[in-house]
Parts: sequence; C-alpha cells; structure tokens
Amino acid sequence: MNAPLIDPFARPISYLRVSVTDRCDFRCVYCMSEHMTFLPKKELLSLEELDRLSTAFIGLGVEKLRITGGEPLVRRGIMTYFNGMARHLETGALRELTLTTNGSQLRRFAADLAACGVRRVNVSLDTLDDRKFAEITRWGRLAQVLDGIDAAQEAGLRVKINTVALKGFNEDELFTLVDWCAARGMDLTFIEVMPMGDLGNENRLDQYWPLKDLRARLAERFSLTELAERTGGPARYVRINETGQKIGFITPLTHNFCESCNRVRLTCTGELYMCLGQEDMADLRAPLRASTDDAPLIAAIRAAIARKPRGHDFDYSRQTVTGQMPRHMSHTGG
Ligand code: SAM
Ligand code: SF4
Repeated sequence: MNAPLIDPFARPISYLRVSVTDRCDFRCVYCMSEHMTFLPKKELLSLEELDRLSTAFIGLGVEKLRITGGEPLVRRGIMTYFNGMARHLETGALRELTLTTNGSQLRRFAADLAACGVRRVNVSLDTLDDRKFAEITRWGRLAQVLDGIDAAQEAGLRVKINTVALKGFNEDELFTLVDWCAARGMDLTFIEVMPMGDLGNENRLDQYWPLKDLRARLAERFSLTELAERTGGPARYVRINETGQKIGFITPLTHNFCESCNRVRLTCTGELYMCLGQEDMADLRAPLRASTDDAPLIAAIRAAIARKPRGHDFDYSRQTVTGQMPRHMSHTGG
C-alpha cells in the first residue's frame, strides 16, 4: 500500500506542487487575462481536503511540497494548511515545504511561514521599475512586493527571485536585476515565457527571449561556472564567479528536461496533472470525497502515476507555437 510512486519510465515521484487557489491579486499579462472568471468556491478543495490529499502523497514518498496558485497567500485560512504540513516536517517524512508567491502578502505571512518550517520562498518579480511592474502585473504595486521581500528576509527565509525573460520588456534590466539580487544575497532564476493560455490578444512569440541569448549576454560581463546540480525539474544553474551568485535557467521550450522529471501538479480542484505540457489529468476530488477511507484515493493516485507521459511537446522552433496548452499557468501553478 505504501510502496513509493514510480512512473512507467522508472522515475520516482517525490515532488508535488499544490495549487491552493486559482485567484490572484495580480493579473500578469502572460498568465491571466484582465477579466478572469474564477471558479466557484464549492469547486475548490477545502483546506482539510488539501491537507488529506497532500498527506496521502507524503505517505507515498513525496518529500517536497511546493505551494502555489494563483497567489497562494490570498487563499483564506492558508496558514491552517501550512501549519498542518508542518507536522510532516517534524516527523521527517517531508523534507521541504516551500512556496512560490508574487510577494504581495509576504509582510503579513513571512514570520508565520518561517515559524511553521518554511525555509525558502520563490518570489516572482520581472522588473524593478514601478511603471513596468504596473504594466506587466496590471494590478500590482512594486513597493508592496519589495516590502514583502524585506519581510521574508527579516524572518530568516531564503528568497529566490523568479523572473520571466521577456523580450523588449526586461532585457535592459538584466544586469540591474543580477546586481540587485547579489547585493541582497538572493539567487535568481530566469524563466522562458511559455505558450500557456494564450488568448490571442498578445503574441507570445514576440515576447520570447531565448535564455541562451540571455546567458550569452551574462557571459559578456561575468565568468560563469556550470553547476552540476539537478533538481529533477527544468532548471539548470550556473555560478557567477565574481559575485558567488547562483543563476538558474528554466527553459522548457529549448531544452528537454523531461527524462529526469520527478514531479506532478495538483490543481485547487483536485485535478492531478502528470505533465505541465500535456492535457491528461486525473480527478482526485471524486475519490477523495467518495470515502473517508484513503484506499480509493491512493488507488487513483497510483493509476494516475502509471499514466505519466514521457514528456511534453512544446515547440517554438518553427516560428509557430505548437504543442500549445489552452490551460492557464494559474490553473496548474507553473
Ligand atoms: N502567484 C505566484 C507567483 O506569481 O509566483 C504563484 C503562481 S505563478 C502561476 C507561478 C510562476 O509562473 C510565476 O513565477 C510566473 O511568473 C510564472 N508564469 C506564469 N505564466 C507564465 C508563462 N506564460 N510563462 C512562463 N512563466 C509563467
Ligand atoms: Fe498571479 Fe502569479 Fe499569475 Fe501573476 S503569475 S497573475 S502573480 S498567479
């Protein structure tokens, strides 16, 4: 019953990303449309259901949980869930509990997150310019996010910045961002913009800034050492020798990382996506709600993992976006 989860390609599944809400206090242009319709509350897993599902995965060998959304810190009562997961950190069953956030609510939550065992947070930030920040997030205020980052560091959380590389938008801030992160002791990861949920009103090919170009530009100023580190995900890392900083590159479109994939994604409605780039998913909410016994739920999880595909089909190479996903990033949490 408790045998670990191994997929058909012999990859152990040890990492679960949990989206706890589809809502957000921002409307980033590459992630959401301006007028989003959000799910009715009854569709969402309750905090108790999120706890039960996460606990089931931990019982099956998941050692790392990343909480995401939408914006995870706008989910009402979210600390109840984090505090619940802290018990798995205490037993050692869970090795890491972490979250990806836009940072807007960190002033409120940083100390509580640190107290329940969170050690690191990823904060998404694409620009250090007020006006551009308002443009890209539509609803966000840069000052609030910067204050949230201060709060996280004051609480002793390690902060990593995630920046979506956007041609013509933040190309000119590459070194400003690197220097700012270095001065604050923060690592920085760049993400290539992905063809998710394109509504046709913005052309993502126009925004696509290949990270190999970004990296070449970095190498003009710094000497870079390739790091062997692998996280089982799409990130590759280099060290900037001059600053000691670690820089990550998430290149799902130009680099095939699927062979070492160790992760699955749970949406806030209990759908399990076995691959970020494929439509196939398994409904875990039905077995969860059908019985207070976990056996049907665990059977459904195992059946889903047995269908995990070898990889995704994203491809920008022919200058048309193929393998494109109609789903929004806020749905699966990125
Ligand atoms: N709201 C939180 C945040 O912004 O960090 C968590 C959820 S957000 C969907 C997770 C990550 O996905 C963010 O770093 C965001 O920049 C990234 N993201 C959203 N849409 C994307 C896209 N089309 N391509 C690449 N990254 C995207
Ligand atoms: Fe919200 Fe994060 Fe999507 Fe921006 S990227 S709209 S902050 S969920």
